[in-house]
Amino acid sequence: MPSVKKEWLSSGGFPRQIARIIDEGGGGATPVISPDSVLTGDGGFSKPAFVIVALSKEINSVIERLTGEGFVEGRNFIRKNDLCPVTPSIEISGVCNLRCIACPRSDTLHPFENGGFISVDDYEKVIKKLLQEIPMLHIVALFIWGDPLLHPKLPEILKINSELGIGSDISTNLNIKTEKLEEIIKSNPTYLRMSCSGFGGKNYEISHAGAKWDIFYKNCFEVSRLIKKYNSDTGVELYFHVNKANILEYKDVVDMARQLGFRMSACLSMCFPQYAMNFVENIPLPESAEKAKELMLISMEDMLSAAEKETEKPCPQKNGFPNINWDLSVLTCCNFNQDRLADDFLNTNITELIKLKNSSEFCKKCISHSIHRYFCIQKYNRYIQDLLMEKCNLPSYI
Ligand code: SF4
Ligand code: SF4
Repeated sequence: MPSVKKEWLSSGGFPRQIARIIDEGGGGATPVISPDSVLTGDGGFSKPAFVIVALSKEINSVIERLTGEGFVEGRNFIRKNDLCPVTPSIEISGVCNLRCIACPRSDTLHPFENGGFISVDDYEKVIKKLLQEIPMLHIVALFIWGDPLLHPKLPEILKINSELGIGSDISTNLNIKTEKLEEIIKSNPTYLRMSCSGFGGKNYEISHAGAKWDIFYKNCFEVSRLIKKYNSDTGVELYFHVNKANILEYKDVVDMARQLGFRMSACLSMCFPQYAMNFVENIPLPESAEKAKELMLISMEDMLSAAEKETEKPCPQKNGFPNINWDLSVLTCCNFNQDRLADDFLNTNITELIKLKNSSEFCKKCISHSIHRYFCIQKYNRYIQDLLMEKCNLPSYI
């Protein structure tokens, strides 16, 4: 481990035990041992210290197994996110081809010009600056509000990340030309999450306004074919936004995910935080957002009142930082598209950005309305899990 990173870990905002674990790891060649040997202690590796690098969905079962064997978190193991608790987002594409009804991009209340794309040169400068400023950075999200698959040079960006040893997290509506998919899958992104809100056009095309079910469906099959063709290890996931109208279609989407070899996860469908903020401030919502609000399984009023009860709790978005726009400006928060911390990421160091974020008036306003605890999807995981078991006899993660 380079010493500069080690010093940074032991001196900064990271738990001291992490630095200690790394110290205890010692130097020299590191042997490769099987998971069974780790658990049984064969070969003298009794209760070693290590970092779990499993994907977030699998990490719970790994931790359960380890703690069952007497391993202690913080002493014997840490999670990879403990080494780098922040995940930066880079909006490589400031363009979206849809007008989803829950998303403020789709109306003119907060005009958000369909901007442009980050250049490959700028992208490279951004990622190299992030790597210098954030020790242990291992993954970046390549989206905030736009669809990264629309970027004409996405394969080049993925190649830069691979060469630098950085994972690429992509979320998409998958409504793109099928021919574009081959180069993208060939470039092996780390994660590819494809959002879905129904099976068939009836409900999907209402929530994902502007999208076509036939294109989405065809492209899912093409992604699956290409993953096999290139023997790609990209983690592909169908991400289902559950609402009052589409809940029974979950079964069909799960069948499709199984058939295509994708992971499946489901979340509560909800209007984006900007609409919740408008609602609290008595600013009328556009018709499309009213429709999205009507479809929410838990009403916006109930979600806001639950948020108000935990207004003292921290903002779950604090680790999604920094959020760099396609034009290099830095957004205050990935949940809101109108407020900026700085005009030029490349000329603002991370310490300055942290200061600006910590004193942001916009964040203060958000917290004063408890909106920071409204868009907290994890909080409703249990609810969605139980509901899908009851209605479809299926879990929400597969
Ligand atoms: S939710 Fe995503 S895909 Fe839909 S309009 Fe907003 S940015 Fe585009
Ligand atoms: S306080 Fe609100 S605006 Fe600030 S980061 Fe959290 S969710 Fe975003």
